[in-house]
Amino acid sequence: MARKLPRKDVVIIGLGWTGSIIANELCDEGLDVVALERGPWRDTATDFNIGYAPDELRYNSRQELMLRPAQTTVTARNNADQTALPMRQYGSFHPGNGVGGAGVHWAGITWRFSPADFRLRSHYTERYGAQSIPEDMTIQDWGLTYEEMEPYYDRFEYLAGVSGKAGNLNGQMQDGGNPFEGARKREYPNPPMMQTFGPTLFAETAAKMGYKPFPIPSSLLSRTYTNPLGVTMGQCTFCGFCTNYGCANYSKASAQTTVLPILMRKPNFELRTLCEVLKVNLDSTGKKATGVTYVDTSGDEFEQPADLVILCAFMLDNVRLMLLSGIGTPYDVRSGKGTVGRNFCYQMANQVVGFFDPAKYNFNSFIGGGATGMAIDELNNDNFDHGPLGFLGGGSTRCAPIGAEPISKRPTPPGSPTWGSGWKKAMRDSYLSNLSVGCEASSYANRGNFLDLDPTYTDRLGRPLMRITFDFPENDVKMSAYVTTKVAEIVRAMGAQTIVENPRTRPWSVVPYQSTHVVGGTAMGADPSTSVVNPYLQSWDVPNVFTVGANVFPQNSGFNPTGTVGALAYRAADAIRSRYLKSPGPLVQA
Ligand SMILES: Cc1cc2nc3c(=O)[nH]c(=O)nc-3n(C[C@H](O)[C@H](O)[C@H](O)COP(=O)(O)OP(=O)(O)OC[C@H]3O[C@@H](n4cnc5c(N)ncnc54)[C@H](O)[C@@H]3O)c2cc1C
Repeated sequence: MARKLPRKDVVIIGLGWTGSIIANELCDEGLDVVALERGPWRDTATDFNIGYAPDELRYNSRQELMLRPAQTTVTARNNADQTALPMRQYGSFHPGNGVGGAGVHWAGITWRFSPADFRLRSHYTERYGAQSIPEDMTIQDWGLTYEEMEPYYDRFEYLAGVSGKAGNLNGQMQDGGNPFEGARKREYPNPPMMQTFGPTLFAETAAKMGYKPFPIPSSLLSRTYTNPLGVTMGQCTFCGFCTNYGCANYSKASAQTTVLPILMRKPNFELRTLCEVLKVNLDSTGKKATGVTYVDTSGDEFEQPADLVILCAFMLDNVRLMLLSGIGTPYDVRSGKGTVGRNFCYQMANQVVGFFDPAKYNFNSFIGGGATGMAIDELNNDNFDHGPLGFLGGGSTRCAPIGAEPISKRPTPPGSPTWGSGWKKAMRDSYLSNLSVGCEASSYANRGNFLDLDPTYTDRLGRPLMRITFDFPENDVKMSAYVTTKVAEIVRAMGAQTIVENPRTRPWSVVPYQSTHVVGGTAMGADPSTSVVNPYLQSWDVPNVFTVGANVFPQNSGFNPTGTVGALAYRAADAIRSRYLKSPGPLVQA
């Protein structure tokens, strides 16, 4: 029997990027807000101290900041005819656990999606005709436009202190920025990061080939910066222990370095860590949430009543909580009906590694950060003519040396010995003279890819695990092969002697790390028959429930997600503040 606690105005599930932003905004509205976070408290001085933050064994190999399978895991299979089995070690993606979420150990590349992304089905239909979209490809429009998102992208970028160069200021194209981006109202808050030799060579070579390179928009800071909340961050030192690590230098934007110093001091905010929400409670009509039930480390259950419930957990957890709570209609792959779990997508993480002559090239790749480097966007989304190609989509291409930790970053050219002194020599020769260029590409929704509750496996509390049914669709495999070949042309032109091309091929495997940019499952949209939440991220079925995270993406773009996730958090908070609170109930699109 759960112990019933005093009522709060708002309960927020999960305190990563999205939970922190929403909590701060709603506290400013005077609401009494409680956040329940599954993992522990984490902060820079105490948890990412410079004395041990760059500990590769602890954080990269043993994944100390990440979710442990013993806490909860997922089952996975490639198609509905297979039996899904549990992931016993997180591999393919690395969810966060604890205050800050995965935003603690993220890389910091901070894109805006392109205007076409938000009306993807309409865009492809208009440019290539309806027949260009395969029947089983369930891509759809988001129910809002880039122009509606612009002010919220701006807020997130200024919160995080993004370092970059605008490509399109109020419709005026800018030299040195991304020529394909949508119009932005003002420059990035900070100038671009400095560039090391590898990205410089990439950009020079790409420019000679006719591409238009630009600096990666980065939530690692190019200079000291105080954000609009009054929180100051430091300049990135290129220490090379960034992705998969907490930042010891206050240089990587995260909830800890941007929002929490302000939020934690607010008297109307309360955080309870090590508290895992089990479900959202509904009243007898099933149309109104009354609060949530959660469990703490004692194993005791608590009922937290609240007027407003906001799901800001990791995207898979948001979808799972919807299913466990009976909010919305679960997707049925056989009939194609139902929406919760539909349109689960991934990110096609393609890569080309070049091995250069060690006598001539020294990239010093250990100098780097998760979001330093140069990019091109000609191979992304619909920035090239797909007419003759037989696939849709593409990806953002970048040379971004994230660091070269001694245990995990030791590629050797094909044919090298795999052990002994021959391997050691190959490793020594190539450590400073290899360079990789990645293409983080789109993943388009397919009828056969979805999320539901596993019929067999449960977590430690007896709740069904989330079951992932996913494989790379034919369209995305073709796209991946194409963009990888194009990237290889650039790496060859840079002077690489040997090239290894790693496009994504079937079947999707849960074992090697690929990307934590899993998206979809509770798509947003203007049509309730194909979406779970409306364009304000409010549940169609239970209007006092909102969910924020990549779970609302109807499909994935050729960009990393967090810029868009952060902007959506601001947009949802704005809708709650300016409209929902004045008249609680379903929000009608303005
Ligand atoms: C290695 C890595 C690199 C990345 N690099 C980039 C990048 O360069 N650019 C980019 O755009 N994105 C990147 N990402 C993705 C980025 O981290 C996420 O998009 C972002 O963290 C999402 O924020 P969120 O608040 O939606 O969710 P999360 O960060 O997942 O936070 C959710 C929180 O909810 C908590 N929670 C979950 N379930 C429950 C429950 N039942 N009860 C209570 N609490 C719960 C979790 O513990 C977690 O703290 C990267 C991710 C990883 C892992």
